[in-house]
Amino acid sequence: HSKQQGRNTFSFFTEQMSQDLSRRLLLEEHLRHALDLGEFEVYYQPQFDIKTNELIGAEALLRWNNSELGSVPPDEFIPLAESNGEIVEIGRFVLKTAITQAKTWFQKLNKPFKIAVNLSPRQFKDCNLIDDIKQYIGQAEIPASLLELEITEGVLLSGDESVRNALKSLHQLGLVISMDDFGTGYSSLNYLRQYPFDVLKIDQSFIMDLSNNREASELVNSIITMSHSLGLKVIAEGIETLSQLKILEHYRCDVGQGFLLGKPMPRKDFENWIGLPHLE
Ligand code: C2E
Ligand code: MG
Ligand code: MG
Ligand code: MG
Repeated sequence: HSKQQGRNTFSFFTEQMSQDLSRRLLLEEHLRHALDLGEFEVYYQPQFDIKTNELIGAEALLRWNNSELGSVPPDEFIPLAESNGEIVEIGRFVLKTAITQAKTWFQKLNKPFKIAVNLSPRQFKDCNLIDDIKQYIGQAEIPASLLELEITEGVLLSGDESVRNALKSLHQLGLVISMDDFGTGYSSLNYLRQYPFDVLKIDQSFIMDLSNNREASELVNSIITMSHSLGLKVIAEGIETLSQLKILEHYRCDVGQGFLLGKPMPRKDFENWIGLPHLE
């Protein structure tokens, strides 16, 4: 009898494990063909100057829609693509799409309109990264300063000299370098000194607590003051309420992004939303 029980306990344990594994294998199998099948789409989430209320740009956020799996969130598929190296090819698609889009909107809006693209650590190991970016920007004939690159501390953790050199080159080309999810890692302050950052994005977990947690709001206030004294621009992400926005305005946060101001949207919806006629 105890043998029976033991086996049940054991199989209950492997059940979860094998479910996780088969989900992973299924995702990996479909991910392999996703680019060729055109299953990826770049969405755009608006960013606003908090002082003037002006729309100044957008963050490019990747979406994957598979006929069998449905919509798979980036937090699930990006780590997989990162671990098997496919993120290099996928990342190239995002960069090319976003830069081409930046060209169109720059022309149609008749003013600088920035597009921010997220870069994964693995993309820095690709020796073509800088040349690819140069090529896309050259083809689009837009100022390099219209492209913002968002990286998290994960990129810097290796302490790799090649990452520092790549960021330096990209910065020298005129691209804007942004630290994403600031406050969630651990030696962020040191990174700010060692790498050529222009922008700091405060993680949404801080913004979420802004109006009901004194510590969170003091932290945000201090991060903004410190960033400004280091010459960095500050973006707050994950703004969902007016009261959060008002506090950020009071603290002189430069740029706001969040569901309150606009959700990530497909290109066409974004164009409708900002009042542009359809551009094919
Ligand atoms: P992230 O770069 O920090 O992007 C911000 C995330 O917050 C996005 O999630 C966005 O949809 C979400 N967000 C924006 N405003 C709000 C808000 O007001 N409330 C809440 N609750 N969430 C908000 P998303 O699109 O699911 O992306 C998740 C993460 O996946 C991104 O975090 C980024 O790290 C990664 N990711 C997305 N696209 C790409 C990509 O093209 N390349 C790479 N390497 N990573 C990407
Ligand atoms: Mg980001
Ligand atoms: Mg972020
Ligand atoms: Mg994030």
